[in-house]
Amino acid sequence: MIVPFSVRFRGEERNTTSRSDLLERIQRLKREKKAVILAHNYQRPEVQDIADFVGDSLELSLCAMETNAEIIVFCGVNFMAETAAILNPDKRVLIPDTNALCPMASMLPADLVRLYRRKYPGAKIVLYINSLAEAKAYCDAVCTSANAPEIVNRMDSEMVLFGPDANLAKYAQKKSDKKVVPIPQYGFCPVHKLFDRDSIMLLKQSYPDAEVMVHPECDPEIWEVADFIGSTSRMYREALTSRADKFIVATEIGLLHRLRRDRRDATFIPAYEEAICVNMRLHTLEKVYLCLRDEKYEVRLPQKIVSRAREPIEFMLRNRETQR
Ligand code: SF4
Repeated sequence: MIVPFSVRFRGEERNTTSRSDLLERIQRLKREKKAVILAHNYQRPEVQDIADFVGDSLELSLCAMETNAEIIVFCGVNFMAETAAILNPDKRVLIPDTNALCPMASMLPADLVRLYRRKYPGAKIVLYINSLAEAKAYCDAVCTSANAPEIVNRMDSEMVLFGPDANLAKYAQKKSDKKVVPIPQYGFCPVHKLFDRDSIMLLKQSYPDAEVMVHPECDPEIWEVADFIGSTSRMYREALTSRADKFIVATEIGLLHRLRRDRRDATFIPAYEEAICVNMRLHTLEKVYLCLRDEKYEVRLPQKIVSRAREPIEFMLRNRETQR
């Protein structure tokens, strides 16, 4: 259907007005309620732009610990908001959409962690921060994709059970002398499974000078074509400091918004344009507004889970070599 110009113009004007109105209301509520908005690197561009801080899951949790705000609006998936709530018992952590769940985190329920504990009594258990709070409550240490090998190496056992991402377990194994056993054996991130080695090779032919940056949640065959393997925070730092001015990026495409904003002279090419985490994208500006206005939905965890899960997270914070 062809939309008459005048109608289209009027509609666009209305949209622009309502968008700026919404942004203003969010800013006003933020001030009135002493709130801060934290957004993960994979959030929608407009949500990143309204946020006070954008980063990876650990950076956001640390940011939550450092802020004086009374309310934290956490635009990320469930396990991230849970971690922020565990580390900040005196603050209210709100999540705009409670359906923002991480399918990979759900692949390792707490019962399974306890079952593996019984099966391998001498092994230590390291869980990726991308795991449920109940699962974290039964592990020895938590890690991020930025420090997984370092945390595995700090365990005082020969065998380390690592979950839920089997690719990150393999990545930690590559950089450690420990025996790293993935739990479960096939835990994966559906978004990082989408990358294809041949497609990246074709992109490399089109952009021969480009630096290829790959997230360790991708399959190992994708690591083989990478110039740089790292978490989103490490990719960001690499892009800001590298001499390259073209980058092929194999992670969720939300990161490209931040990269393009902060390295304007460079070209960022998604390794796959449809690498989108639909769960992350459930948070919209409208939901952020309602979350602030109605102070919903508060992340609440049983006290037993909070105190048990806090210990392995704090182990990581005490032993971090790289966190930002
Ligand atoms: S990108 Fe993957 S690991 Fe991250 S929240 Fe989405 S599904 Fe979970």
